[in-house]
Amino acid sequence: MADCECLGGCPFFNDKMASMPTMAEMYKHKYCKTDNSECARFVVFKQLGKPAVPADLYPNDLDRANRVLAEA
Ligand code: SF4
Repeated sequence: MADCECLGGCPFFNDKMASMPTMAEMYKHKYCKTDNSECARFVVFKQLGKPAVPADLYPNDLDRANRVLAEA
């Protein structure tokens, strides 16, 4: 699959994960470069738009993504 369309501007990788490069690479491989449909950030982005994505939402935190969607 192609890289996630958000990768270049995803604040999660350009800010939040700067101090955790190993973990960032794991997430990037699993979600951004393989299957962004499973990414909590992408799920919120697709349904509500970029401003609705919490800056500190982890890609693997679908529970929180679902709460964000439910509260919208
Ligand atoms: S964290 Fe999610 S939204 Fe951001 S680039 Fe990776 S797959 Fe896309």
